[in-house]
Amino acid sequence: MSDFDAILFDFDGVLADTEPVHFACWVEALAPLGVPFEWDFFRDHCVGIDDRSMVQLLAARSSPPRDWEGLWACHAGKSALFRRRTLASPPFAPELGGFLKGLHGAYKLAVVTASSRPEIEPLLAAGGLGAYFDALVCGKEAGRHKPAPDPYLHAASLLQAKKPLVVEDSAAGVASGRAAGFEVLAVESAAGMPEAVLRRLSFVDNPEKSASG
Ligand SMILES: [Mg+2]
Repeated sequence: MSDFDAILFDFDGVLADTEPVHFACWVEALAPLGVPFEWDFFRDHCVGIDDRSMVQLLAARSSPPRDWEGLWACHAGKSALFRRRTLASPPFAPELGGFLKGLHGAYKLAVVTASSRPEIEPLLAAGGLGAYFDALVCGKEAGRHKPAPDPYLHAASLLQAKKPLVVEDSAAGVASGRAAGFEVLAVESAAGMPEAVLRRLSFVDNPEKSASG
């Protein structure tokens, strides 16, 4: 039985399979500016960091290096494209709702993400998932971005949680949760996340007994 009092979920790559959608939207938004962007680079260097840091990274690796604020001009268009696509087809696994419903009540739940609130809230609503979360910490609401501990410390404070479990998929996110002093469960994908969490909570063998305590 687990003695965690809360579960703090990253969003992209943990609750939702959004990284391929983010990447496709970035590629389209950056193309008119003549900035190439490859999946391998995105996956290895851009997942888990905030958008501004990502654009600065892209500007610095351009040959010759580009002014990052020039590239940042495409950010609003990228965000609008992402919103349209994900709202049209919410990127949640079918079993995610049942999984969160099972945890809700037994644990306080929060979403802790570098993505902005206007990106996250409508998506959670579209997926019928918003009611399961007791708090959202989005963007720079807590201060510094991951890998700083600020977002996870703020979420734990909002939930008055003393022993939360952090669920993350990126290096920056794992570092953030650990810097906050919390246990971090690193998952490979949104698809495999529920099973990994349930295994960690020891729900799999006896869910009712575990949930009651
Ligand atoms: Mg992530």
